[in-house]
Amino acid sequence: MVTNNNEKLQELTIEEKLQNLYELQRVDSEINKIVTLRGELPLEVQDLEDELAGLSTRIENLKTELEELKKVTAQRNMDIKKAEDAIHKYSEQMQDVRNNRQYDALNKEVEFQNLEIELQRKRIGESLRVVKEKEILMEEAIRRYDEKHIDLDVKKGELNDIVNETHKEEETLRAKSQKLSAAIDDRLLFAYRRIRDNARNGLAVVTVDRDACGGCFNKIPPQRQLDIRSRKKIIVCEYCGRILIDKYICDYDGSQAQADLEASIELQKKKSRRSKREE
Ligand SMILES: [Zn+2]
Repeated sequence: MVTNNNEKLQELTIEEKLQNLYELQRVDSEINKIVTLRGELPLEVQDLEDELAGLSTRIENLKTELEELKKVTAQRNMDIKKAEDAIHKYSEQMQDVRNNRQYDALNKEVEFQNLEIELQRKRIGESLRVVKEKEILMEEAIRRYDEKHIDLDVKKGELNDIVNETHKEEETLRAKSQKLSAAIDDRLLFAYRRIRDNARNGLAVVTVDRDACGGCFNKIPPQRQLDIRSRKKIIVCEYCGRILIDKYICDYDGSQAQADLEASIELQKKKSRRSKREE
């Protein structure tokens, strides 16, 4: 069955073979484009996820800092309580003193404890200010986290749709590629795939553009270009090994060639008008 098909395919003219090959190349390039595009899409989601992880760390750090500040403040309040107890104790002792020296000593202790209380209250006041600042920062971080999380959900949904869509498109193209491959004989198809695998841009069939190979951009001699245009044999680029075709090979109704011809005539006219004006 396959052999029969191959025999039938051998009967195709070189021109028909090249046309089939070029169509296949176009479809395969479309598939490559989709696969590349889909590979880049998850990066956006990745960026958002990284940002969320950063915000989450920030919130955790602020939480730890606030807890630490509260712990220190509680300790300072306890120190104040201790100082107040000491003052109370010294005041009682002062009532039983026997001389001025004892009285002065106790009085100094009370003064010292009062200074201690003052200092701790000042520090607690500073801490409370820092706590307020950090609480505002934390609220801000939580608000941004929530916002970004909504963004992420939306983006993920969008990307899922796009991925599903391109999967469908890719399947359609793959079916088309398979159908086109079946219209190319095994030997030529094998060569096409081998060249494609080795080519960085996945191009095995390229047109001649501005006298150069469309794959590696090396110049092609005029005689060789004539051979390519005659479509009588399969010609490969002597530099990169890609199969060379003329750009009108799939221009079945000649409309593209006609359009190019008209454009070049128009250009010619413009040039001559300009040179006349300049005379
Ligand atoms: Zn080349």
